[in-house]
Amino acid sequence: MGADLKLCLSDVIAARGSIQTHVVRTPLLPAPCLSALLGVPLHMKMEIMQPVGAFKLRGAMNAALSAPEGTHTLACCSTGNHGRAVAYAARQLGLKAAVFMSSLVPQTKIEGIRRLSGEVQITGRSQDDAQIACDAYSESPGVHAISPFDDLHVIAGQGTIGVEMLEDLPDLETLLVPLSGGGLAAGVALAARTIKPGIRLIGVSMDRGAAMKASLDAGEPVEVSEVESLADSLGGGIGLQNRFSYSMCQDYLDDVVLVSEEEIYQAMQTLYFEENLVAEGGAVVGIAALMSRKIADLNGPVATIVSGRNVDMKQFTDVVSGRDVVLGDLLVKGQSYGA
Ligand SMILES: *Cc1c(COP(=O)(O)O)cnc(C)c1O
Repeated sequence: MGADLKLCLSDVIAARGSIQTHVVRTPLLPAPCLSALLGVPLHMKMEIMQPVGAFKLRGAMNAALSAPEGTHTLACCSTGNHGRAVAYAARQLGLKAAVFMSSLVPQTKIEGIRRLSGEVQITGRSQDDAQIACDAYSESPGVHAISPFDDLHVIAGQGTIGVEMLEDLPDLETLLVPLSGGGLAAGVALAARTIKPGIRLIGVSMDRGAAMKASLDAGEPVEVSEVESLADSLGGGIGLQNRFSYSMCQDYLDDVVLVSEEEIYQAMQTLYFEENLVAEGGAVVGIAALMSRKIADLNGPVATIVSGRNVDMKQFTDVVSGRDVVLGDLLVKGQSYGA
């Protein structure tokens, strides 16, 4: 890593070498049925095929492999998938894992971490509360904390997705990246922008509690209130002391688009019925943005990262069955697919 703490494509290539025996090189699949429906040639980067069900393994594994000598426990705060990835990485490397989560995290994600022998601590109602608890715990010797998004090793690991996508589809013109804390977008956008400067890079978040979008608009990291969303993996702040992911998203993303809960609901249904895939709300926001025609002037090939499959099964079956879903004070009215 450069002395000025700026990440380069070479760091992403190095990460790729480090993590390759632990992560899956996922395919970039054409989506013929969705493409026909949308009228654009769409490809999907299949991160739902990672062993922990989400791309987070790439960054977590790269950071775990870079942990200092004498580390016995990896710690993190998480909306679910990062915790699972850190627990998996810890087990692979013979370390312990401690995962701090807020009470908004779905039960399935907590169970997934416990099954990997990770220790879960529920603290408060927000990611920021979980972060504070994690920071305190990480003061102990031998504990190494891994941020879900604001860590250069994590960002480099997520960036390997961008390298693979452009290897498989050099003609790619528009890349839609699910966006929360921005580790995924920062890494992928750095890699893609360096390999193909003219590519269009768009982050996509849900329209309630999109911390990176609010921060980019404000010109500095700001707090947003966290609410329930079908895209639970995209919840949480970016940290008022954000060091890396905010400025990289500012530098490399062309735009950020927001989608509503209804649009996410429909995208989950559509991916399920058209391509027979189970994916989280947070993983289908790119498809939701395309379905709702929020991205103008699409010419060449488009791709999105289908970033995770760790759904709450009760909620997922409600969505694909067309039942109403209640998210805090918001009711997403049910609608059967194709009705
Ligand atoms: C974490 C996560 C994201 C967003 O990644 P960031 O690096 O926080 O922007 C998107 N999709 C899924 C499934 C995730 O788990």
